[in-house]
Amino acid sequence: MPYTELQRELDERAALGLMRRRQVLQGPQAPHIVIGEKPYLAFCSNDYLGLANHPQLVAALQQGAAQYGAGAGAAHLVSGHSVAHHQLEQALAAFAGKPAALLFSTGYMANLGTVQALVGKGDTVFADKLNHASLNDAMLLSRATVKRYRHNDMAQLAQLLEQAGSGRKLIVTDAVFSMDGDLAPLPELLALCERHDAWLLADDAHGFGVLGERGRGSLAHFGITSPRIIYMATLGKAAGVSGAFVAAEQAVIDTLINHARSYVYTTATPPALANALLESLKLVEQGDALREHLRKLIAQLRNGLADLPRKLMPSATAIQPLLVGDNHAALALSEALRKRGIWVAAIRPPTVPQGTARLRITLSAAHSVDDVARLIEVLHELAQ
Ligand SMILES: *Cc1c(COP(=O)(O)O)cnc(C)c1O
Repeated sequence: MPYTELQRELDERAALGLMRRRQVLQGPQAPHIVIGEKPYLAFCSNDYLGLANHPQLVAALQQGAAQYGAGAGAAHLVSGHSVAHHQLEQALAAFAGKPAALLFSTGYMANLGTVQALVGKGDTVFADKLNHASLNDAMLLSRATVKRYRHNDMAQLAQLLEQAGSGRKLIVTDAVFSMDGDLAPLPELLALCERHDAWLLADDAHGFGVLGERGRGSLAHFGITSPRIIYMATLGKAAGVSGAFVAAEQAVIDTLINHARSYVYTTATPPALANALLESLKLVEQGDALREHLRKLIAQLRNGLADLPRKLMPSATAIQPLLVGDNHAALALSEALRKRGIWVAAIRPPTVPQGTARLRITLSAAHSVDDVARLIEVLHELAQ
């Protein structure tokens, strides 16, 4: 058999409690989902505002398909760049408070293309050790020298910047850390950029739509703005659809259009998606009530679980991880919840560091107070 070795590696992975399997959803993304025949109360999507199944977005997607057809048919630089994509980019730039924005098919591709277009051999990328995998892959692919600093350790980062060579310097960070829920100290990072003439790529996959005035994201949350900041956010999480964008100075965006390989060498996403995202951006902007409800649920969960022996990690965002440690124990807890009709994914290495397996609880404005109360109740039952 030509795949004996692959199978042996998979068996080893399973024995370590690291095997990944997919669950097949029957209907739309929502707090109450159906997997197989069974209903579950789910706390694991990134649909933070509950827009993924919003009737206005569904209608905009349908209307976009009627107007622009199903597929874009070509890359953006050939004949695939439609007026829907173009309008969305202008709206995103205005929303982010930047001169220009560029739409990518996914956040993964946005990070890959942006880092690779901006730095190369002789340059240095400085990266938080807990950054998202897409930023890690991006910096390795760029061929720049890579310096990783301990999570949010500004003193170590300052030291590394001090020692850096003469090439370009790019700091890359999750703005809200995807598996931890805490924030990067963006004002301090910006100050270091200014001191060392560096650029900052802030990946706001989990802050966009959720944090800051009108959901403008982590930069707005901290009240900072600078041409040195290259802002990236994804559109498949709080925005409820799909895709990602980079917002920055015009020179950065023009560089990406010319050099970001994951932008240039791929077919544009269907214009109907851009049409839906234009609608989504309006809902995000008008979503103060959703964000207020989400904040209340976060406080409810943290208060409700404060007396558990297993602690929630320190986080003020919709990502509320319950630290378990051991892979098998994390899986067992996830399984026990599932038996009681609650769906929370166990996150294990290499997604998180060894020994820090956790239940990544995520809240959405689509959850009700009763939903969160039920999770609190069941986690207490299981702690007995
Ligand atoms: C989800 C995520 C991405 C990737 O975005 P996709 O659009 O899902 O490809 C990038 N960065 C972070 C921090 C993320 O959480």
